[in-house]
Amino acid sequence: MINYNEALEIIKHEIEKLTLHTEEVDIFESCNRIIAEDVFADVDLPPFDNSAVDGYAVKFSERTKWNIIGEISAGNFSSFNLTEDNAVLITTGSKLPANADTVIPIEDVEVDGNNLQLKPNAFFKKGMNIRTQGNDLKKNEIAVHRFTKIDAKAIAVLASCGKEKVKVFSKLKTGILATGDELIPINEKPEGDKLRVSNIYSLYAAIKEMNHTVINLGFTKDDKEIIAQKIKAALEMNIDLLITTGGVSVGKYDFLKEVFEEQGVKEKFWKVNIKPGKPIYFGVYEKDERRILVFGLPGNPVSSLVTFYVFIKPSIEFLFKQNEIKSITATLQNDLKKKDGKRHFSRGILFEENGEWKVTSEFSQSSGNLVEMSRANCLIEIEEERLNPKKGERVRCILI
Ligand code: AMP
Ligand code: MG
Repeated sequence: MINYNEALEIIKHEIEKLTLHTEEVDIFESCNRIIAEDVFADVDLPPFDNSAVDGYAVKFSERTKWNIIGEISAGNFSSFNLTEDNAVLITTGSKLPANADTVIPIEDVEVDGNNLQLKPNAFFKKGMNIRTQGNDLKKNEIAVHRFTKIDAKAIAVLASCGKEKVKVFSKLKTGILATGDELIPINEKPEGDKLRVSNIYSLYAAIKEMNHTVINLGFTKDDKEIIAQKIKAALEMNIDLLITTGGVSVGKYDFLKEVFEEQGVKEKFWKVNIKPGKPIYFGVYEKDERRILVFGLPGNPVSSLVTFYVFIKPSIEFLFKQNEIKSITATLQNDLKKKDGKRHFSRGILFEENGEWKVTSEFSQSSGNLVEMSRANCLIEIEEERLNPKKGERVRCILI
């Protein structure tokens, strides 16, 4: 059985071959999208020399007294013939008058009518408090790099470069299908051995959180013929990823692996040395120019979500050159049981106390316990060779 790292590499290798499409969107719609072009500054940033403070613009000399000859506020420039004797009242961000090379902060001067005087001991140095044109970025330099995730910080730069329309990567389209005779819609009350189909919702949300498109293919019984029809139809759709849950283990009614094979999906791996999520299947379907990555996730609600977080999410982030896994190293607050050579992803609660990151994991780690999963904010990753980590040991926690 392959290990986690090998499995992840296989997925990355395959996902890299997906063709990335692009589209143009309005800048407001570009939030949380990945930019598909290098954006160049069409002007110098800032576009003109300006004052960094509210104060007085002067032409630097040995003087400490000046005659105030007027004012400039931001957006209301007027030209002055500034000599060494004169000063102009200037507000933050205002364009500097010609000849001005220094701005004295308002706090450092005394004003009496038109007379301006530097306070004793005030710091006064040529060039201070000036933001020079192009100091942030010069015209024609790259303002935002391709593959940047557009957030509030980046969008401000785009706006400053006049990008009303932004070229972004199209969202990936992911079909999701749950399987299991026990599944019922959530608007019904489970009776007997039935249970509500929660996996569709968790995966739907996990994909949406990544800002990609979900095509909900619903759920189906453990009936090989019906599953085959559903998978066949899914593979004919214009999707990039197909994710199924359930029916991928070694049970009598676990048909997914067989169906994938019969429908032409090429298996890349089945079963990984991890817990939870061991039975995960990964394959690739290729037809004509189309390519679909197929993930058969286990049905256990915790397993399906954990395998999404540790396999699918980092692979998609890798594809879009994003920071793949966000993790924090923390101190374990309780012993963890781990007797096998698998890589474990245990649910944990990460918190900060006295400037130190700590993680507790004092709840059952049953892969059926959804509510506990919902309260966790991280997965504690325990490598294959590490056994029974004790309270006080440092562990890597993947933020979820
Ligand atoms: P399986 O991987 O098909 O053996 O499923 C393992 C267990 O996960 C099942 O016995 C169900 O209890 C549970 N399960 C499977 N699919 C779902 C689902 N879509 N939503 C919630 N629980 C599920
Ligand atoms: Mg099943």
